[in-house]
Amino acid sequence: MKSKLASIGLILLTVCDTANAHPGHGTVSSDGVWHYMTSPAHAIPALLIGLIAAAAVSKIARAVVRRSNDER
Ligand SMILES: [Zn+2]
Repeated sequence: MKSKLASIGLILLTVCDTANAHPGHGTVSSDGVWHYMTSPAHAIPALLIGLIAAAAVSKIARAVVRRSNDER
């Protein structure tokens, strides 16, 4: 499982690196949080990271509950 998460992390690092300088970056006058929320180059990697983090937290929580139930 750890090697799988490490592989996914390495892939995401590669994706994020190529998304650093997308066309249109810095050309919008109100370049702020809205740009990062609406631009697919920023929103998709952030969404993927969020989903992977949520899956990891869910898996850890289930393991803790399972371990707690086994101790009873
Ligand atoms: Zn951008």
